Amino acid sequence: MQVGWIGLGNMGLVMATRVLDAGHSLTVYNRSADKAAALVERGARLAASPAAAAAHELVVTMLADDTALREVLGPGGALGAMTPNTVHVSMSTISHALAQELTAAHAARGVGFVGAPVFGRPDAAAAGKLFILGAGAPEALARCQPLFEVLSQKVLPLGPDPAAAHLTKVLGNFMLIASVELLAEALDVAHAAGMDPQALLGALTGSLFSAPFYANYGRLMVAQQFDGPAAFALPLARKDIELARSAAAGVSRPLPSAEPVRAKVAQMIAAGGEQLDLPAIGKWTSG
Ligand code: NAP
Repeated sequence: MQVGWIGLGNMGLVMATRVLDAGHSLTVYNRSADKAAALVERGARLAASPAAAAAHELVVTMLADDTALREVLGPGGALGAMTPNTVHVSMSTISHALAQELTAAHAARGVGFVGAPVFGRPDAAAAGKLFILGAGAPEALARCQPLFEVLSQKVLPLGPDPAAAHLTKVLGNFMLIASVELLAEALDVAHAAGMDPQALLGALTGSLFSAPFYANYGRLMVAQQFDGPAAFALPLARKDIELARSAAAGVSRPLPSAEPVRAKVAQMIAAGGEQLDLPAIGKWTSG
C-alpha cells in the first residue's frame, strides 16, 4: 500500500513507524522536518510539502487541530493534490464543523474521505492498540482496512458520514476529561479523609467503574507523579473541551458539565502548566 503521512507529533510518529514496519511504502511530511529523520533512516521518503505527500492512494493526516489541518490542506496544499483515486484518512481530533466542511469539499472534488479519529494514548499507538472510530463510504473504508489493522485493536464503525466519527471522538473525549475530573475529586476527598486513595481506586475500578481509563488515570493520580513527559498535555485537553462545547452549541445544547473542568484546566495552564499531563488535574488539593 502506498501511504502518504502528514503529521509526526507524539501520536503521528509512532503510528507512521508501525505502518512502515508493516512493510507499506511510506512518504512523510511534517512541518518540522527533523521529526521525520528516524523514519527516513528506516526507508520512508521525505516529502517537501503537504501536496507532495498527498499524491498517494491513502493519505493520513494526524495533526494538532483544525488550524493545522486547514493549513496543510488549504490553497496549494494537500487537498488540491489528491485525485479520485485517493482516500484521505482524517485521524486528528478536529471539530464537528470542520469535519462536515471537509466532507463536502472532498465530495466536490470526487476524493474519498474517511473520518478515523482514535482513542488511545501514544503508548497504545506504539503497540497497535488504538480504537479507531471509522466512518465514510463503505468502499473508502474498505481501502483503509490494511492501515487500520496495523494501528488498532478495534475499529468502531459509525456509518457513512465521516463527520459522525469526529463528533463521536469529541463527545468521547468530553466524557473522558469530565470523568477524570470526577475521579480526581473523589480521590482527593479520600486522601483528605485519611483513607488510602489506592483502596478507593481499587474498589471503584473493581466494581462499577471497570473502564480502563479510570484504572490508568487513577493509577497516575494515586502516585501523584506528574513530572514525566505529557502523553495528553493540558492544552490538548483544553482544545477537546472547546471542541465539545462548540459541537453542542452547534445544535443549541448547553453542555453544563464541561464548564468546571474547562475552568480548572484553563487556570492550570495560566499558572504555567502547559507541559502537564491530564492526570495532573488530580493533584491533591489538601496536604
Ligand atoms: P502533537 O504531538 O502536538 O503533534 C501535532 C502535530 O501537528 C505535529 O506534527 C505538528 O507539527 C503539527 N502541526 C501543528 N500545528 C501545525 C500547523 N499550523 N501546520 C502544520 N502542522 C502543524 O499532537 P499529538 O499528540 O500527536 O496529537 C495529534 C492529534 O491526535 C491531535 O488532534 C490530538 O488531539 C489527537 N490525539 C492525541 C492523543 C494523545 O494522547 N496525545 C490521543 C488521541 C488523539 P510540528 O512537529 O512541526 O509542530
